[in-house]
Amino acid sequence: MTCEEIIAVLEEIAVLLELKGENPFKTRAYRNGADIITNYGDDFLQKARENKLTEIKGFGEALATKVHQLVTEGEMEYHQKLRAEFPETIFELFHIPGLGPKKIKALHTHLGVASIADLKRVCASGEAAQLNGFGKKTSEKILEAIAFREAHADRFLLGSVTPVVRAILEDLRQHPDVDQVEAAGSVRRGKETVHDLDFIVSTQNPQAVMEHFVSREDVTNVMVHGETKSSVHLEHGLQCDLRAVSNEEFPFALNYFTGSKEHNVAIRGRARDQGYTLNEYRLAPIEGKDPKKLKPIHTESDLYRALGLEYIDPALRENQGEIEAAEKGTLPKLIELENLRGTFHNHTTASDGKHSLEQMAEAAAELGLEYLGIADHSKSSFQANGLDEERLLAQVEAIKAYNKAQDAITIFAGTECDILKDGSLDFDDEILTQLDYVVASVHNVFTLSEKAQTERILKAIENPYVTMLGHVSGRLLLKRDPYAVDIPKILDACAANGTWIEINASPIRLDMDWRWWHRARDLGVMAVINPDAHRTRGLQDLYFGVQVARKGWLEKAHVANCLPLTKVKKALAAKASAAHA
Ligand SMILES: [Zn+2]
Ligand SMILES: [Zn+2]
Repeated sequence: MTCEEIIAVLEEIAVLLELKGENPFKTRAYRNGADIITNYGDDFLQKARENKLTEIKGFGEALATKVHQLVTEGEMEYHQKLRAEFPETIFELFHIPGLGPKKIKALHTHLGVASIADLKRVCASGEAAQLNGFGKKTSEKILEAIAFREAHADRFLLGSVTPVVRAILEDLRQHPDVDQVEAAGSVRRGKETVHDLDFIVSTQNPQAVMEHFVSREDVTNVMVHGETKSSVHLEHGLQCDLRAVSNEEFPFALNYFTGSKEHNVAIRGRARDQGYTLNEYRLAPIEGKDPKKLKPIHTESDLYRALGLEYIDPALRENQGEIEAAEKGTLPKLIELENLRGTFHNHTTASDGKHSLEQMAEAAAELGLEYLGIADHSKSSFQANGLDEERLLAQVEAIKAYNKAQDAITIFAGTECDILKDGSLDFDDEILTQLDYVVASVHNVFTLSEKAQTERILKAIENPYVTMLGHVSGRLLLKRDPYAVDIPKILDACAANGTWIEINASPIRLDMDWRWWHRARDLGVMAVINPDAHRTRGLQDLYFGVQVARKGWLEKAHVANCLPLTKVKKALAAKASAAHA
């Protein structure tokens, strides 16, 4: 039993009491109890085991007895009894934006609603709209929220939460009582989808900060409003937690809530081996041990140093070798957004893009890029208005003319060429030879067997005109699973043929997945970060591609579009002459 688990039980009791319609004082006692535990620190458990909790200020006799039982027996009778009064599935209802304990109680008592499935039924039938405090609009909103939830299964794209994270950080940073603030959790680690958002602040006045946070305009539902932790829903049911700690605790809390769980377990074990106990509040000597004295810890860097490690970037904290590398001093110097000098896979109005060649070029130049590759769809992607030979060659001429006419940026003429079902390309060599490069992508027939799909792509990799593979797995995050394909075989073939693999930076793709890149890198496969931009704004997605590269341990030397213009021209020319040979 951990403190976090006890807190979860107490918070659940508070919710159950609200559902029962018990008086608010009773409910508050459990929320206060949870707050006290959050603040108390690591010897809380010891006190609970020894039944000495009443020594803690604010901890009443009744609550102390119950928590003692929970810690010593692993269960609390009172909690179990309360739970038994409600169906297990009722807790799902709290994830629907706009539904609080009062509304849920009404739905449960009058219409027997005990799950999201029930809720959907009574909203669709019009029964819910008859209830006091409901109405047609509320029912419609609930149905919308359920549909969204079903579609997204409680996860959100990194790309859609990033603006929210930035806005909340900015807002908290400006609060006069906030000293330090960071986003923690999977967002900080750059995961491609996230379940919820976590923020940590250090402050002397947590109450004021919490009050400010739960009163945000975009909050649709307040689930917990405690002194040191608050939990709210934003639009679409995105859960967002804020924790307040002291400056002293900040690096520990930030580290703990950044995770991953696996990384934390490994780090805690390492601390223990050195005679320390590490938790979300502090690093302290284990009683009876006499470990070496520590320098003061003000930052996460200090914390890692205390454990004999180099600072580990949050992107790497997945317990996939980063701790060993930090010990040896062999962590990668991760690529940064500023390292990118250009990019290759972008569309224009010639196929399914929204902006012209000139508009895309100007936007890329404004971002500070030295070169931009135009890779519109090929003729088989007719649904995307793919270019036939004639239109493609006309575009090549237009690009040559544009390059002559200005010197703000160099445009490369390419194609996003369909890999046909049999692995051949959508254009003949005679056409391909007139281009600067080729992005080869699968856009149809996703249902081939793994063997057939892999062979199809292998054939493209071996085609000397193919510079790089586009979105190698075909996944659409939260929408479509990858097609069956043997990625290790693809990596080996790319290494053998010098074919680059794209990190498609569009937040709905982020493909190839970061989990493969460490291996790809070690095999000598070159990455290339492409936004697959269909409008000028899409170029901004390069940021997410860099996040993937960082999670995949990539340095700038592993990413082709970190090459300056002259070198990238050489690389493309070398590839072309190999094709001619
Ligand atoms: Zn594509
Ligand atoms: Zn594309």
